[in-house]
Amino acid sequence: MEEIKRLLLEEKAALLTEIREKTGNNKKINSDIGDAIDSSVEEQERELDLLLQDREQSRLKGIENALQRVDSDDFGYCEECGEDISIKRLLAVPLTRMCINCQSNEERSRLAQNAFSRADNFSQVLSDE
Ligand SMILES: [Zn+2]
Repeated sequence: MEEIKRLLLEEKAALLTEIREKTGNNKKINSDIGDAIDSSVEEQERELDLLLQDREQSRLKGIENALQRVDSDDFGYCEECGEDISIKRLLAVPLTRMCINCQSNEERSRLAQNAFSRADNFSQVLSDE
């Protein structure tokens, strides 16, 4: 478990650096380009940034959550079936909350959902233009 905790802490540090670098870069880019940039492009890029930040934030939350569970010895059990998750799997994907069996079930249903929502986004982009 110590090794997992170390992994999570490293991951968290890397993610925080990444977020910090990204927000720093954005400010720089915006002031460099100034008014020259087409405002709709700028708008789209801002939305993309927000989306990325959202993803990073939720990843950060996931890491913190996992760290808490490591500390409370509540870590390494499948949330679906309650079985132990193999240490090999935890080292490969420390943020996982499901065993390999439940995960592949979950992924199968999520893939189906993603296919639908991607179609939605696509038609939205088309109608915007
Ligand atoms: Zn399971």
